[in-house]
Amino acid sequence: MKPAGSAFPFPPVGPRRHNPAAVAAVAQTLTPLQADGLRLLMKSEDRRRLSRDAYEYSPVLASRLAAAEAELVVCPTTVEQVKAVAAACAQHHVPITMRGAGTGNYGQAVPLLGGVLLTMTGIRAVRSATADCFTAEAGCRLADIDEALALHGAEQRLLPSTYRTATIGGFVAGGSGGIGSVAWGFLRDPGNVLGMEIVTVEPQPRQHQLMGDAAAPLNHAYGTNGIIVTLTMPTAPLRSWQELLVTATSLEQGLHLADQLRTEALPIKELSLYDQQIVAMVRPLQGGAADSGGCRLIAIVAAEAMEIVKRRLTHHNAQLLLKRPQTVAGSLRELTWNHTTLHARAADPAWTYLQLLLPPEPAPALQAMGCQQGDGLAWHLEAVRSQGEARWAALPLLRWQGADALAEVMETAQALGCTIFNPHVITVEDGGMGVVDGNQVQAKQAYDPSGLLNPGKLRGWLERRHL
Ligand SMILES: Cc1cc2nc3c(=O)[nH]c(=O)nc-3n(C[C@H](O)[C@H](O)[C@H](O)COP(=O)(O)OP(=O)(O)OC[C@H]3O[C@@H](n4cnc5c(N)ncnc54)[C@H](O)[C@@H]3O)c2cc1C
Repeated sequence: MKPAGSAFPFPPVGPRRHNPAAVAAVAQTLTPLQADGLRLLMKSEDRRRLSRDAYEYSPVLASRLAAAEAELVVCPTTVEQVKAVAAACAQHHVPITMRGAGTGNYGQAVPLLGGVLLTMTGIRAVRSATADCFTAEAGCRLADIDEALALHGAEQRLLPSTYRTATIGGFVAGGSGGIGSVAWGFLRDPGNVLGMEIVTVEPQPRQHQLMGDAAAPLNHAYGTNGIIVTLTMPTAPLRSWQELLVTATSLEQGLHLADQLRTEALPIKELSLYDQQIVAMVRPLQGGAADSGGCRLIAIVAAEAMEIVKRRLTHHNAQLLLKRPQTVAGSLRELTWNHTTLHARAADPAWTYLQLLLPPEPAPALQAMGCQQGDGLAWHLEAVRSQGEARWAALPLLRWQGADALAEVMETAQALGCTIFNPHVITVEDGGMGVVDGNQVQAKQAYDPSGLLNPGKLRGWLERRHL
C-alpha cells in the first residue's frame, strides 16, 4: 500500500505572518487609492472568511489548510489599481494570492504564506461580445458573460456548475471544464482560450497581451505565474436547450443510452449519470418519482433533438421524469459536476470524492471498484471529450475512511487504467497529470521573477529553486 504521505505530500499550513512591517508598508502605499474605489480589508473576520475556498470537500485539505490566513485583503476596481498592488507587493516582497469567487476545490485561492489576498470581483466588465467571441475582465461572473452573449445568439462553450458565482479569471486559472465538456473538451484544449491580458508582479509591473499558445502556461496555473486581467474566449451558438432528467434501471443501461446519444448528430451540452446511492441522497435527482430507485441521467439537449432523444429513451427502456427549458437559476446544471458532491455532502458530510478520467472502455473499472468498495463508493459519471475522443470522467463519492484508505482507492483506480486528478493536494502538478510543465515555470520566471504569486502551489518552481 502506498503511504498516505506520498499521495498527499504537504504538511499542515500554519497561520503564517509573512512580514508584518512589509505588509503594513503595502497597506500604507495603497491607502490613497481608497478614494478611487480600492478597498483594503484588515479585519480578522474578513481575512479569515476570504482566505478559504471550497477545499472542505477534502478532509485532507480541511485539516491542513484551516489555519491559513492572509494578512491583508485588497479589492481593486480597475486594472491600474491591480498594477499598483503588484508594484507595492513587489517592492516590499510580499506574497500575493489571487482570488475570484473562491469556489475552487483544491485550496487554490488559500494563501499559504499569508501576505496579500487580491480579490478580482470588482473588475468585472464584459468589454466586448459578438456571436464568435468575447473579452471580459477577470472578475466577471460567468452568468453575466452568458447574459451579454445571449444578445448575439451565443453562449460560452464551457461552464463550471458554479457558473452563477464563479469568475472567468478563476475558471481559467483554477477550473478545468464542466458543462459543455461533452462537446468542447477542456479549457486547456487549444482553441478554448484565445488570449489574455496579464499584469506582471515587479516593482514596475508590465501589462502583456498574450495570444494563443503564449497564454497556455497561465491556463490552469492557479494564478502562480501572472495576474490575469482580461480573457478573450470563443463562443458556441446559443440554442433552445432542454434539460432532461431520465431514469435508467442500472448504470450500465444509462451508459449505453448516453453513449448512443453522444455518437449521433445531436447538439448536446451535458450528459451525466448517477447511481442509486447518489439518487437516494440528492433529492432533486429523484425528480418527484414515486419510486426513487434506479439510476439517473441528466441530459441537456437542443430542442430540435427532442424527437430523436425520446425515441432513444423508449428503445433503451428509460423513462423521462422531467423535461423543461434551461433556466439560469434552479437549473439541473446545478446538480452536475462538483455540485453533486456538494449536495451529497449536505445530506451526509461523511462523503468525500475523487476525480478520474475512466479508461476508454469504462465498465470493467466501474465494476471492479464498485465490488471492492461496496457502498463506500457511489458513482457519478460525466461525459467528456478528451483529446478529441468521447470519454467518461467520474467524480465518485467515497466514504471517508482516512488518508491511507483514500490513497489505496487511488492506487486501485490507477491500476484499472483510470487517470487521477487528485483533489486532495495543493499544487498545480499534483492535482493534474503529476508532471511539471516547464512552460508554466518559465512563465513564472518571466512574469513573477521574485516568486511572489500564490507561493507553494507550483511544484516546478519550488523544485527549480532547490536545484
Ligand atoms: C459546487 C462546486 C462545483 C464545481 N464545479 C466545477 C466544474 O464543473 N468545473 C470546474 O472546472 N470546476 C468546478 N468547480 C471548481 C470551481 O468552481 C471552478 O474552478 C471555478 O471556476 C473557480 O472560479 P472562482 O472565481 O471561484 O475562482 P477562485 O476559486 O477564486 O480561484 C481559482 C484559482 O484561480 C486563481 N485566480 C483567480 N482569479 C485569478 C486571476 N484574475 N488571475 C490569475 N489567477 C486567478 C486563484 O488564485 C485560484 O488559484 C466547482 C466547485 C464547487 C464548489
